[in-house]
Amino acid sequence: MATVTVKNLSKKYGAVTALDNLNLEIPDGALVSLLGPSGCGKTTALRLIAGFEKPDSGAILVGGERVNDIPANKRNIGMVFQSYALFPHMTAWENIAYGLQQGKLPKSEIEQRTAEAVELVQLLGCESRRPKQLSGGQQQRVALARALVTRPKILLLDECLSALDKKLRVEMQAELKRILEFSRITALFVTHDQEEALTLSDFVAVMKEGKAVQMGKPSEIYERPQNQFVASFIGKVNFFKAADAGLDGGTFLVRPEKIKIHEHPPSGPHLAGTVEFVTYAGNITTYTFDCGGKQVLAEDQTAASAKYKQGMQAFLSWEKEHCLPLED
Ligand code: ATP
Repeated sequence: MATVTVKNLSKKYGAVTALDNLNLEIPDGALVSLLGPSGCGKTTALRLIAGFEKPDSGAILVGGERVNDIPANKRNIGMVFQSYALFPHMTAWENIAYGLQQGKLPKSEIEQRTAEAVELVQLLGCESRRPKQLSGGQQQRVALARALVTRPKILLLDECLSALDKKLRVEMQAELKRILEFSRITALFVTHDQEEALTLSDFVAVMKEGKAVQMGKPSEIYERPQNQFVASFIGKVNFFKAADAGLDGGTFLVRPEKIKIHEHPPSGPHLAGTVEFVTYAGNITTYTFDCGGKQVLAEDQTAASAKYKQGMQAFLSWEKEHCLPLED
């Protein structure tokens, strides 16, 4: 376990700025997701922390120790990739034990720690299979066990669930959380999937153009996004100009689940709209309304079936406390 501090980290590739004074503070034992659009520098941040590349400027501290000049293989950092990168000719057991054998630990300790890792990731019975005889989820478990078995100070995970299909991915998210919590390891997780970041992490750092624009608990990022970029990256949003609601200046957002839909005009402030699209997903119906040229999303989680059909008129309102003001 260790804290990770990234101070004013910058990295350019030719004319491309991959990281631009990135600052991160990762508490001991926390799982932090780096979330952001393609090209914002997530993988570059991991590669610099791992030591695969050198920063142009800035500092990386692991457990309070500056690691900038320590080579990657001496940093004691575990990594799990999307591609798993397992050794194809080795069994699951041999893959997991590999790092311990390289470390020339006594045979009995290698046996014991490998067995513990196999149990932790629930691969009992699969030890003697080669990677191609394992499912995607099982291969990912091997990769995770292989990274954890050497007891690294921190673990870096780069889009490690992206190759799995949706159902398995959701199962593995829960598994990953359980395994990392049990291991009490500090972990930095790169994803471009906001739902995954919110579900898995203790903290989410939202990145844009090589900088962290906001870091906080998932609920803080969702409920108190600082600006339009963060808000639109996390969950669905409706942006309104304050003037739309008869308020002074600025922009605010209302989440679709906070918009109330009425058949008849309510007494307070409201918008009139026509249903443009209806998306029914069992427990949630999402309506897209056209309110005088402005599209507004509204989610109804109460009705068993879609109450409004395309072309119907309805009236939209929201509580004042559900308007979240934003910096521009
Ligand atoms: P993605 O979600 O698509 O993986 P990312 O947020 O991980 O993106 P990075 O891979 O860190 O982004 O890339 C940041 C920027 O640096 C991008 O513009 C990318 O094209 C550029 N870049 C990354 N690695 C190199 C490299 N080795 N040579 C040149 N440019 C690079």
